[in-house]
Amino acid sequence: MEDFINISSKSAHWLKSKDGCTYQMRSLIYDSNFKLDKETLIAMAWISFPNLLTTFFVKESLFSLASAVGKPLQLDLATINNTRSNCARVKVQLDLLADLSKFVMMEIEDEKTKEINVVKVRIQYDHLPKYCTECILQGHSNEECRFFILSHVTLERKLQMRERQ
Ligand SMILES: [Zn+2]
Repeated sequence: MEDFINISSKSAHWLKSKDGCTYQMRSLIYDSNFKLDKETLIAMAWISFPNLLTTFFVKESLFSLASAVGKPLQLDLATINNTRSNCARVKVQLDLLADLSKFVMMEIEDEKTKEINVVKVRIQYDHLPKYCTECILQGHSNEECRFFILSHVTLERKLQMRERQ
């Protein structure tokens, strides 16, 4: 038990093997979703709520709306300072493979009548990082994928060869 406490209290420790070499050992948190050959599709992106009433340009409301698509991280300066009235922007951490919704429903309770109104708020994705579903990688789209293009080129060549024969 004492050994276990000693090991886990250090982020890295050194092991001396029989052949005299020293190895560094680290405790890593195991994540079953983590795959070495696949890049995570978790990305940072800005989302906007165009046409949202400025009444709701408060962190709590915007974060709650943004949580519909991912983990809200921060508001942009214009939203904080209220210098742009037509849309609020929030930076979120989202999964590019997830079905990213275009709308979020917002319930607004009337303080006097206690009546609840449901408002459909549009979500705009400002700069979604490109990703390729062929390679499961960020940085390029399927259209730009060189593996995809390569396979197309070889297919075309094969067809041309067949036509010549
Ligand atoms: Zn690709």
